[in-house]
Amino acid sequence: MDAEIISVGTELLLGQITDTNRPYVAKHLSELGLASYHQSIVGDNYKRMYDEMDQANRRSDLVILIGGLGPTEDDLTKQVAADVLGQGLVDDAQAMAKVENWHRDTGVTMVPSNRLQAKYIEGGQSIKNDVGFAVGSYYQNENGADFLLLPGPPWELEPMFDKYVLPLLQSVYSPEQVMESLVLRYYGIGESRLETDLRPLIDTQTNPTIATYAKKHEVTVRLTAQAATKTEAEALNQDLAQQVNNIVGSYLYGYGDDNSLAAMTNEALTENNLTVSVADAYTDGEIVDQLVPIQLRQDLDLDATIMGKQVPSAEAAADLAETLHVDTDGDIVLTILPSVNNPEVSMTNPDFTNEVVHVGLKFKEQPAQSFTRTLGRAHRDNMDTISFVGLDTIRRTALGLPLLNRK
Ligand code: ATP
Ligand code: MG
Repeated sequence: MDAEIISVGTELLLGQITDTNRPYVAKHLSELGLASYHQSIVGDNYKRMYDEMDQANRRSDLVILIGGLGPTEDDLTKQVAADVLGQGLVDDAQAMAKVENWHRDTGVTMVPSNRLQAKYIEGGQSIKNDVGFAVGSYYQNENGADFLLLPGPPWELEPMFDKYVLPLLQSVYSPEQVMESLVLRYYGIGESRLETDLRPLIDTQTNPTIATYAKKHEVTVRLTAQAATKTEAEALNQDLAQQVNNIVGSYLYGYGDDNSLAAMTNEALTENNLTVSVADAYTDGEIVDQLVPIQLRQDLDLDATIMGKQVPSAEAAADLAETLHVDTDGDIVLTILPSVNNPEVSMTNPDFTNEVVHVGLKFKEQPAQSFTRTLGRAHRDNMDTISFVGLDTIRRTALGLPLLNRK
C-alpha cells in the first residue's frame, strides 16, 4: 500500500507559502500505518498536473491531491483528475444548494466555476466541507490508484480530514483497526490559550490524537483513538478526555459534533427545572430566541419605562435583576444594559468604538451580582458575543458553576 501525496499550487513551488497540508496528511497516514513513498508539489498547469497524476495512478495505490478545488481559473485539480480517470464530474446536490443559497442570500453574482466547487468525480463519493464550499472527492479505482481530492486552505482541509477522511481511510485501508472520535466543546477560552495549556498532552499523545479547532466564540477538541474494538477505542478517548479536562475542564460545556452552547443551556434549565426572565436591551432578542419558551418566564423589552431614570452601570444591572426577580418570579433573572455614548476607541479595530455592556444576574434568593464587558468589534459581532455571554451565564447559574468573569 503506497499512498502518494501531491500538493497543487504554483505559489507552493515559488516558495510564497509553506506547504503545511502535506506534512499534516503524511503524519496521519503514518499513524494509520499507511506507507507513503512519493510526495510532490506540482504547479497549476494542466499538462504537468496530468503527467504527475498519470504517473501516480500507475505506481501508487492511493493518490491524495491537495489544493486547487476552488472556483478560480487556476483551480484545475478536479478536472484533471477526472480526465486521468476517464470520468466526468457530477453534482453533490446538498453542496450545490449551499453554493446557490449563499449567492442568492448575499446577492453576489454566481459564475459557472462556483458550481464546480460542488461537483465530485463520477462513480466516486463527495466529501462534505463543513467550513467552505469546495467538497472533497474520493474515487475507488479498479484499474489503478484510488484518488482522494482535498481542499487547499488548511482551515478547510484539517477539519474535513479529521472528521470525514480519517474514518474513510481507516475503514478501507486499515480495516483491522477501529477508529473512534470524541468531540469536546469549550466556551470562554481562546484556541491559543487552550492549545498552550494542552501542549504537553498534544506533544506526547499519539493514540488518541488531539486536534483543536477554533470556531466563532468557541473551541472544539477532537480526540481520535484507534484500537482493535470500538469499546477499547472509546475507553482510550474517555481516558484522555479526563486528562484534558483536568486541565481545561472549567470551560467544557458539552460533547459531540452536533451540539451548541444554547442546547446545553436549555438542557441545564430543563434538568434543573428552572425558569428564566431576560431583560435584554442589547442583543435584539438573540438570547431569548435561543431559549426554549417553556423555561422562559418573561422576555422583557427594555424600553424607557423599565430603564427609568437609571444611568446604565453594573449596579443598575444588578438592581434591575432584583426588581425583576420580584416582578416576574423567574428563578434566574438576566439583565443586559449597554452603556450609551461611550467615546473610547476600540483597541482591536480603530474603526470601531468600544461598546460597554453591563450584565446583571439574580438567582433565586441569592443576592444579585453583575459584571461589565467591554467589546471592541463591529456591533453585530459584539451582539453575538453578548448572546454567548448571556447563555453561558444562565447555563453556569443553572448548574451551580462559577461565572466566567472576564472583562
Ligand atoms: P480556494 O477555494 O481557496 O481556491 P483551493 O482548494 O482551490 O481553495 P488553493 O487555491 O490551492 O486551494 O489554495 C488556497 C489557499 O490555501 C492558498 O492560498 C493557501 O493559503 C492555502 N494552501 C493551499 N495549499 C496549501 C498547502 N499545501 N499548505 C498550506 N497552505 C495551503
Ligand atoms: Mg484555489
